[in-house]
Amino acid sequence: MTSYDQVKSKFKTLRFSSIADSIESVIKTAEDNDLSYLEFTEMLVDDELSRRNKNRIRLNMKKAGFPYEKHLSEFDYKHQTTITKKQVSSLLDFGFIDNRQNIVFIGPPGVGKTHLATGIGLKAVQSGYKVLFTTALSLVEILDIAELKGELKKKINSLLKFDIVIIDELGYLPMDKTSMYNLFQLINALYEYRSIIITTNKEFTSWGDFFFEDNVAVPIVDRLIHHSHIFMLGGESYRLKQKMKG
Ligand code: ADP
Ligand code: MG
Repeated sequence: MTSYDQVKSKFKTLRFSSIADSIESVIKTAEDNDLSYLEFTEMLVDDELSRRNKNRIRLNMKKAGFPYEKHLSEFDYKHQTTITKKQVSSLLDFGFIDNRQNIVFIGPPGVGKTHLATGIGLKAVQSGYKVLFTTALSLVEILDIAELKGELKKKINSLLKFDIVIIDELGYLPMDKTSMYNLFQLINALYEYRSIIITTNKEFTSWGDFFFEDNVAVPIVDRLIHHSHIFMLGGESYRLKQKMKG
C-alpha cells in the first residue's frame, strides 16, 4: 500500500517540495470536487509553479539592492506636476525593457527622481524581471576595483544578466579618466542589450563638465539618450515641503 510519506519523499527527491507539501490537500480537493485526472495534475503543478515564482521574485528583490521600498502608489502627482501618472503607467507594461530602451529622470534634488526609479524597479521585479539598483558612485567604485584586478570584463558580464540597471545620482561628483572609461565600457555593453534607468541633476548639455572631457562624454551621453524616455522634473523639493509642514 502506497503511503503519503512515500510519495512525498519521492517528490522531495525531485525537488518538487511544493507538491510534496500540498499533495494531501490537493488530493482532498480533487476527491471532494470530482476533478478529472487532468484537472488534478494541473492543480498539482500550478502549486509548484506559483511557489517557485514567488521564491524567484523574493530572491530577485534581494539581489536588486533597493535602498528602500518606495512604491509608485505612494507617489503624489499633485505635488509633482511635471510628470503625469499616465506617463509613468505607460512604462509599466515594460515594453521599454523588451525594446532595450532607457529611462532618464533629470531634475534638482528632492523632486522624486529616486522614488520614481525605485518604484518602477520594484514593479519590474514583481513582474519577473531582474533589476539592479546602484548609485553611480558605488557602481564606479565596483568597476574601478574590478579593473585593477584585471576583471573588468567579467564584472561587466555579471551586470549584463540584469534586465534593468538603475544608476542613481549620475553627475553629482566629477569622475577621473579611468572611472569614466570603465563606466563607458559598461554603458557600451548595456547599450541596445539591456535597459538603464538614470537619475541625474545634470542636463545633458552640462555632462561634459561632469565627465571631465567632452570626447568621452559625447559617446556616453549618446548611448544613454538614444532610445530613451527622458523626463525633466521640476518643481519644489518634496523633502522641503515635508519640513515646512512639520
Ligand atoms: P530625488 O531623487 O529627486 O532627489 P527623492 O525621490 O529621493 O528625490 O525624493 C525625496 C523624498 O521625497 C523621498 O522620501 C520621496 O519618497 C519623497 N517624494 C518626492 N517626491 C514625491 C512625490 N511626488 N510624492 C510622494 N513622495 C515624494
Ligand atoms: Mg535621488
